[in-house]
Amino acid sequence: MKIISIVSGKGGVGKSSFTASLALVLSRKFKIVAADCDVDAPNLALLLGVRRLEKTERVSTRYKAFANRRAARCRNLAEICAFSAISWNERKRMPEINRFLCEGCGACKLACPQGITLKRVKNAVIGEAKTKYNFRLVSGMLVVGESGSGNIVELVKQRARKIAENLGADFILLDSSPGIGCPVIASLRESDYAVGITEPTQTALSDLKRVLEVARHFEIPHGIVINKYDLNPKVSEAIESYAGENRIPLLGRLPYDAKFVEAAVNMLPVVAYETRYERMFLGIWNRIHRELKRSRRHAET
Ligand code: SF4
Repeated sequence: MKIISIVSGKGGVGKSSFTASLALVLSRKFKIVAADCDVDAPNLALLLGVRRLEKTERVSTRYKAFANRRAARCRNLAEICAFSAISWNERKRMPEINRFLCEGCGACKLACPQGITLKRVKNAVIGEAKTKYNFRLVSGMLVVGESGSGNIVELVKQRARKIAENLGADFILLDSSPGIGCPVIASLRESDYAVGITEPTQTALSDLKRVLEVARHFEIPHGIVINKYDLNPKVSEAIESYAGENRIPLLGRLPYDAKFVEAAVNMLPVVAYETRYERMFLGIWNRIHRELKRSRRHAET
């Protein structure tokens, strides 16, 4: 079983829309499981026409500090908290903790063991669904205002892996978060291949370079897909030069087309909305597959 992560660096370049179509094309030839690891803003389910997740579970990967009356003796707690989560409530004459700012580091508990309790909090919901395209989807969603998205991605991946093992699946497709932080690293970890999606803007190219640097650091083979390549030929050329200079395979180019938007409005992957895209996505998949095989051979020698 191979894990393929779809990353982008910059948000809004069409990563989830790409993942939805690639998953559909792949599911016609292989057993796959898709996982939405963009736990801050998950929308892969919607792009696959899933309105409601099943088997949802509230999960906890974080602690929060809570103050009791005995914390009244610890007037200096606000100075101890590096996250500015503690203030002194003059009316109650005790420290007050802002739960949205608390990172659960435990420093206040060390300073005031009697007055502070650390408790586990449910900071995300994970669920799954059988899509109408005959593959299962796992999706994670951070509770609003909570933190710990990297750990949540780990739990999403664990659940996807369990389902994939039970099904004897060939591939797990991960729709990662934008950026280069914890949730992206958690998605990339253990991946066999990373597909970097970008669009022809300088900001998207700059962010793509950053996320592919992360992939390179973890020695994960990777390639590039340029979305809406025809909107700005000059920057598309710059992306291709970057790929060539760094020996990164260019896996494909997708044109700008209002059909992508229409498909999303109708909660459909574009390959299910406009059949001419099927060949294009199949071509991209064949290149990914070839690269995967090449990297496997390279790892074995
Ligand atoms: S656990 Fe850490 S972040 Fe939370 S209130 Fe205490 S010191 Fe601040």
